[in-house]
Amino acid sequence: MWMCPYCGSSKGQPFSDAQLSGMLCLNPDCGRFDSTLDAEQVNSDWDDSDL
Ligand SMILES: [Zn+2]
Repeated sequence: MWMCPYCGSSKGQPFSDAQLSGMLCLNPDCGRFDSTLDAEQVNSDWDDSDL
């Protein structure tokens, strides 16, 4: 489960566009963007193409 690194809330919404992908915190007191999912997706793509 995703957890916001800034406030610890587990309420997040997946978000992606041409340059960013990650989770947007839905806590009204926080609302920050966590882009750590981006690196994991890049690694998965490399594994698939290598096989
Ligand atoms: Zn947060």
